[in-house]
Amino acid sequence: MNNLKYLTNVTTLAFDESRCTGCGRCAEVCPHGVFVIGNSRVVVTDRDLCIECGACMMNCAFGAIDVRKGVGCAAAIITSKLRKTEVTCGCSGNDKGCCS
Ligand code: SF4
Ligand code: SF4
Repeated sequence: MNNLKYLTNVTTLAFDESRCTGCGRCAEVCPHGVFVIGNSRVVVTDRDLCIECGACMMNCAFGAIDVRKGVGCAAAIITSKLRKTEVTCGCSGNDKGCCS
């Protein structure tokens, strides 16, 4: 699943490197390789790889990560599969949403 990109520059992922201790938990749990361990803290490889699952935020004990989990196209696709409905994340007023 690594290296699959979604929409450009829409993820809500925010990383406060001043709070990062470099423990590496976020890099362990991220399913898309968004974080890699650097010298004294992690480094964000590519924010556009983020699917907003929230695992990094939930596992960072230092409050260095914030993300609105469960939003965006990934959540819309999963929800549509479960509910057998159209795929839409609600970001667009167009007939065809960005997830199509
Ligand atoms: S889990 Fe938090 S403190 Fe640990 S490396 Fe990741 S951002 Fe830094
Ligand atoms: S929200 Fe999920 S995909 Fe995005 S950086 Fe965190 S762990 Fe990785």
